[in-house]
Amino acid sequence: MSELFIRQEILKNLPSLDCLLFDMDGVLLDVSQSFRAAIVDTTQFYLKEQLGLEETGNLIEPGEIELFKFAGGFNDDWDLTNAAVAFLIGKWAQSGAKDTKSLREFGPDWREFTSTIKRKGGGLQQAEGFVLEMLRPSERREFARAWNAKLVTRLFQEFYGGDAECRDLYGFDPEYVHVEGYFRRETVMVKPELVPSNLKTGLITGRARAEAKLGLQHARLTNKIPENGWVVPDSGFKKPDGRTLMLAREKLDFKMGLYIGDIMDDLQTVFNYRELKGSGKARIYSAIVLSGPSGAAHKREFLEAGADIVAPDVNFLLEALGNIIKNPQSKRA
Ligand SMILES: [Mg+2]
Repeated sequence: MSELFIRQEILKNLPSLDCLLFDMDGVLLDVSQSFRAAIVDTTQFYLKEQLGLEETGNLIEPGEIELFKFAGGFNDDWDLTNAAVAFLIGKWAQSGAKDTKSLREFGPDWREFTSTIKRKGGGLQQAEGFVLEMLRPSERREFARAWNAKLVTRLFQEFYGGDAECRDLYGFDPEYVHVEGYFRRETVMVKPELVPSNLKTGLITGRARAEAKLGLQHARLTNKIPENGWVVPDSGFKKPDGRTLMLAREKLDFKMGLYIGDIMDDLQTVFNYRELKGSGKARIYSAIVLSGPSGAAHKREFLEAGADIVAPDVNFLLEALGNIIKNPQSKRA
């Protein structure tokens, strides 16, 4: 897709935008080789090293991670990895599989798992519920013994931060895996010069503060998206909670914002914001960029779900906005 979709009703309002709010992963940075790889490798490592499965193939393919993002409630990759590991442990307790290939092939598959979670509202809790429901009591005990959520998260952090940055990012040195941090594989998708200097800017991310800082440095946006406009999970709110956007509004005091994300949770965050008391103080529109791994395939779903803008990528969107939001000088000219 190379065209931009803008809902007719908001076109006339766009020149009054005074704030852009950015999601980071999948919008500013391509994280398919970092977070996505950390999910795949953590899952593989856990089943291999903790449960002793022989390695005969990938348990989850990078493309299958999209299924979770699409199910909703998995903006947090630590939750996502835990859901994947829990599902596999459940199947392991049921099947007694000895190697990764036969465990993967033992049903249900990722698609069935994630579509059931989606129907039930998404997220880790629903994933755990699904697994418990498919197990007999004795298998449940085995499942509970084998799943250590804290360790799963820790392994993910060791892969992502690596020997050099794990301590800076998470406050501990790697103990289980020793790699060059996967964050180094991230590539910048945004052209920083396209981020307008005449609008307020914010960042709404599931990244921890130190991870967000690292990401913005990499994207050369530290000056254009200053820290006073960040909403990170240590604020107490995580997407799709609409209060993330409420907090951004309080911090930045804008009247009309556009939140630019790449997955269903981003869209849901805007919808949830609109339901909150006090949301009348600022209107927030939603934009979805399709630069994520299978974004283009979901274009129709984003439109049907009610996205105000759908764009091929963030640069395309920023360039179009630049043309729409002319500054007063050029209007007079
Ligand atoms: Mg994202």
